[in-house]
Amino acid sequence: MRVTPGPECPHLDPIEQAMLAAGIDMPRRRSAKCRIDKAGLSARFALGPSLFYREGYMPERHPLDNPHAGVICWECCQAGLAAYDLETLHPDFWTEETPWFPGPPDQRSPGK
Ligand SMILES: [Zn+2]
Repeated sequence: MRVTPGPECPHLDPIEQAMLAAGIDMPRRRSAKCRIDKAGLSARFALGPSLFYREGYMPERHPLDNPHAGVICWECCQAGLAAYDLETLHPDFWTEETPWFPGPPDQRSPGK
């Protein structure tokens, strides 16, 4: 099946633009070399049931194959729109130098 250029998810644009503005390395569209602070992300952006951060694995030969992480727009995914997945670095790939987005986890909030 040929993939034709179609409408793209607009909901991730503000997050992507904020990442660029924060100086985060984005080697290509919808791909950012950063780690996500979930609490900070939902505090800064209007996330909802259809816009969320998720991380995990896509097991093939090994249960920990294909680590993936990113912000997903489920609404546009289901609607068949393009660019509904903003890829970020999975914790397996984090280093001390990996920048946080939108910032380091809030040290003041206890637990979680
Ligand atoms: Zn969307």
